[in-house]
Amino acid sequence: MSTIRREIIALLGDNELNALEISQALSIREKEVYEHLDHINRTLTAQGKRLLVRPYTCLGCGFSFADRHRFNRPGRCPRCKGGHIRMASYFIQQ
Ligand SMILES: [Zn+2]
Repeated sequence: MSTIRREIIALLGDNELNALEISQALSIREKEVYEHLDHINRTLTAQGKRLLVRPYTCLGCGFSFADRHRFNRPGRCPRCKGGHIRMASYFIQQ
């Protein structure tokens, strides 16, 4: 596994962070964080661990993107069409 992925796993074992916080902590682009999370999610599942996701939430109407399977940011809220979405955050259950 790449060093960056190990670092993300270590970070998320101790802290609940969103993709922006991870990108800042490791000096990588936000887009790369989503690619790593997708890979980490599959790796952890195979190891019997879990990447816990606090879903994206619409700040306009409270809609929760709980059924979203992709990690990248949603564009607009499907319920109110608003564009103010609170970031999802991640934590690893050891
Ligand atoms: Zn909404």
